[in-house]
Amino acid sequence: MTKKNAVVDKEFCVACGACTKVCPKNAISVFCGKYAVTAENLCIGCGICEKICPAGVIDIMEARTL
Ligand code: SF4
Ligand code: SF4
Repeated sequence: MTKKNAVVDKEFCVACGACTKVCPKNAISVFCGKYAVTAENLCIGCGICEKICPAGVIDIMEARTL
């Protein structure tokens, strides 16, 4: 199965922090009070953050293959 990660559109994130509170893996945090970033190694792609983001800027995407 392909691993999925939450991806934040930094440009439109309002840094509200709502996603950081609901993530069961503590995989998403607000960087310098500016925008949310996902720790891809921790994120399980559950989609909870995507559903609660008030700005609708989180998408669940297939992880990049490095
Ligand atoms: S919930 Fe959405 S708008 Fe708020 S910090 Fe997270 S990604 Fe940004
Ligand atoms: S998809 Fe799930 S595990 Fe990944 S950052 Fe969002 S809430 Fe956390």
